[in-house]
Amino acid sequence: MSRVYNFSAGPAVLPEEVLREAADEMLDYRGTGMSVMEMSHRSKAFQTIIDEAEADLRSLLNIPDDYEVLFLQGGAHLQFAMVPMNLMKNRVADYIVTGQWAKKAYAEAQVYGKANKIASSEDQTFSYIPDCSDLPISPDADYVYICENNTIYGTKYKKLPNTKGKLLVSDVSSCFLSEPVDVTKYGILYGGVQKNIGPAGMVIAIVRKDLITDDVLPGTPTMLKYKTHADAHSLYNTPNCYCIYMCGKVFKWLKAMGGLEVMKQRNEEKAAILYDYLDRSRLFKGTVRKEDRSLMNVPFVTGDADMDAEFVKAAEAAGFVNLKGHRSVGGMRASIYNAMPKEGVEKLVAFMEEYEAAH
Ligand SMILES: *Cc1c(COP(=O)(O)O)cnc(C)c1O
Repeated sequence: MSRVYNFSAGPAVLPEEVLREAADEMLDYRGTGMSVMEMSHRSKAFQTIIDEAEADLRSLLNIPDDYEVLFLQGGAHLQFAMVPMNLMKNRVADYIVTGQWAKKAYAEAQVYGKANKIASSEDQTFSYIPDCSDLPISPDADYVYICENNTIYGTKYKKLPNTKGKLLVSDVSSCFLSEPVDVTKYGILYGGVQKNIGPAGMVIAIVRKDLITDDVLPGTPTMLKYKTHADAHSLYNTPNCYCIYMCGKVFKWLKAMGGLEVMKQRNEEKAAILYDYLDRSRLFKGTVRKEDRSLMNVPFVTGDADMDAEFVKAAEAAGFVNLKGHRSVGGMRASIYNAMPKEGVEKLVAFMEEYEAAH
C-alpha cells in the first residue's frame, strides 16, 4: 500500500486514522454483524451514530442551543436555492461576489427574487476580498450572503462584513472546522462536507431556530424546507448514513487533536511554510493579495502555462497529486485541509525548491 500526498480541493484528503478505523468496522460495526452501509437509518446503532455526530459537532463549534444542526443532501449547490426559498420573505437579498461559488449562489437567488450584487472582486480575477465595512446594504434585504473561503481563488474573509443588522448567510464549505468561529454572528452557515470533513454527498447547515418556519416561498418542495428536516432531526428521508458516520469519526478525530484552536494553529503553521516559500521563490508566486490569503487553498503560478503543466506532471510523478489549478484559473493550487499533515507541505516545498533550482 502506498498513499500519496493528495492536494485535491475536494473530495479531499481524510485523516488516515479515520480511514483505518472505518476499514476495521467495515464488515461488522461494533457487534451488529453488519456494515454501517447496510444498516437501517431507524436502528438504534445508527441513532447513536447521528446523535454523537451532532453532539461532537456542537461541542467543536460551540453551537448554541438556539441553532439547529441539519445533515442534508444535494451538496452546497442545493443550499444556493434553499437559502432564498426559506429566507426571502421580502424577495430581496444582497450578495457579495468573491468567486465562482458566490456567483452561482447569486445567480440562483435571482430565480426567487431580487438579488443585489453589493460588492465584487471580479475586476481582479477574484484575487482579493473587497472592503465590506460600509456596503450599500438594501433596507429591505432578507439577508446578506457571502462565500467565506473561496476554494478556487484562495481568498478568505478575515473579518465578516458589516451587514448593518441584516442576517448573515455564509457558505463555509472549504473552511469548515479549520478554525473556531462565532456561530452567533450568522443566521445560517453551511458547508459541503467533502472539502474539509468527510466523503462527498452531504452538506451540514447550522440554522438559527427562529429562521426555521413554515413561512417559505410558495411552491417550496417539502424536502427543501429547513423545517421538514429540523422537525425530523435530519431523518425525514433516508439520509446519507455512511457519510454521517464518517463525518462523526472526523469530529472525534478533531476533538482528540485538541479542537479547533489547535487546528487553527496547525493550519497557520502549515500555510506559512508554503506562503513563506512562495514569497521568496523566484520561480513560483502566489496569486492572492497577502492579507486575504486562505489557510486552506493556496493557488500559485510560474507565469508560464507550459511550465505550470510540466510542474504539475513532475509533482505527480513524485507523489504530490491533484495540484492542477481550477480549470477557470489555471496554474496550481495546493489544498491543505485539516487532514493534510505538516510533513506533506514541507515535502511539497522541498520538491518545489528542487524544481526551482533545476529551472
Ligand atoms: C465545492 C464548493 C461548493 C460546491 O459544492 P457541491 O457539494 O458540489 O455542491 C460550493 N461552495 C464552495 C465554497 C465550495 O468549495
